[in-house]
Amino acid sequence: MRAILMAGAVVALLGASASAAVTPHPRAEAQALDLAQKAIALRSVRGPGNMTPQVAALYKAALVAGGFAEADVAITPVDDTAYLIARWPGADPRLKPLVISGHMDVVEARPADWKRDPFTPVVEGGYLFGRGATDMKLDGTLAIAALGELRREGFRPRRDIVIEFSGDEETTMKTSAIIAGKLANADLVLNIDGAGGVLNEETGAPEYFTWQGAEKTYADFQLTVTNPGGHSSEPRAVNAIDELAAALLRIQNHPFTPELSDLTRAWFVEAAKYEEPATAGAMRAFAADPADRGAIAVLAANPATVGKIGTTCVVTMIDGGHALNALPQRATANINCRIFPGHKPAAIMAELAAAAVDPAVGFKDVTVGSVATDASPMRPDFVAAVKTALAGPYPGVPVFPAMSSGASDSMWFRHAGAPSYGASALFIKRSENFSHGLNERTPIATIPPAIDYYLSLVTDLSK
Ligand SMILES: [Zn+2]
Repeated sequence: MRAILMAGAVVALLGASASAAVTPHPRAEAQALDLAQKAIALRSVRGPGNMTPQVAALYKAALVAGGFAEADVAITPVDDTAYLIARWPGADPRLKPLVISGHMDVVEARPADWKRDPFTPVVEGGYLFGRGATDMKLDGTLAIAALGELRREGFRPRRDIVIEFSGDEETTMKTSAIIAGKLANADLVLNIDGAGGVLNEETGAPEYFTWQGAEKTYADFQLTVTNPGGHSSEPRAVNAIDELAAALLRIQNHPFTPELSDLTRAWFVEAAKYEEPATAGAMRAFAADPADRGAIAVLAANPATVGKIGTTCVVTMIDGGHALNALPQRATANINCRIFPGHKPAAIMAELAAAAVDPAVGFKDVTVGSVATDASPMRPDFVAAVKTALAGPYPGVPVFPAMSSGASDSMWFRHAGAPSYGASALFIKRSENFSHGLNERTPIATIPPAIDYYLSLVTDLSK
């Protein structure tokens, strides 16, 4: 999972006037790119021939060569995949660990649809091409290379540094859940697969950086109406399809109360600077007053912002009837919800049932592979560490929090009570983010500042 904020017209270019000061770390930079290419060549896609275990072996070899004790790097097979947990013991065993979280699997890519083979890494024209170049093999190898560099520099962390990679983040998240269960005592989880930097579309200059501190909760609710049925030549007053359709229309018209959290307020205020005047004005007005009707109308009508102002639910599937000439005995629909952090799915389902105003419509939570999560706290030590880490390579770049509408491994950590923050080191243009899509690529100019960033961030967070 990787999503970079919303699309929108960029009307302001802020900051970044000071010149960047990137300390070169040639060995780590070369290692990150080399390892990323080797990892991309391993087709770590769920199903037959899944090479995630080989990615784990590649990463383990690099970590051990970089100074990790062999016994401190464990690879555990699960079904056709595997996960990796490596520990760098800190000086004070009483402190909770810093956990660096990533994944090794990638979304399927069909070679016939790509310009180049997705599993043959290519560096060309300043880009690393291949499935996983953005999501998230380069992120992973940057972190591995940075840890090796820290060891060469003689750094000794006070708290344990644990780096872990799940093996099925893009599909079932079985290993993600296992890992979060084992590492729920983390002081802080740094998810290197979330949020990150954005480059200006025209100039390519660094524009802003977001860290992800919350995700909406995914839920599926099944609605069912049953009826004795009968011959279609003898209609009854109540028809299962009609009854379900009427309930769905009432749900469509049900307004969820718009909401604002500390985190989304900060996002609205900062992100407004990069939007067209109408959207920007609504974002600022909503941040000042989440009951502002005019602002709500503008933001609710925009697919890029509707999910930011509260819970959304929409019907996604429908099924009913069993014969062309029979009264339907059964009609079902799926309502997919993206729940604003802080609400239990059961409460949202109850709200939908109340909106349906028909006790004959049955509701059932049929969500698979997702758990409810609240936002992580806006921890000042984390925010300060990110700002410090970006100050050298990206001086003056605005840094602000974001809530994403998709789920990542952070969901499992937050559910287990561990604060988790997405803060990838990559800077990419919004138009060039092809995560999960065709011809995925990442500018390699992002590598030296990324190493710089991780060296600073990991040092500060493991103190
Ligand atoms: Zn990802």
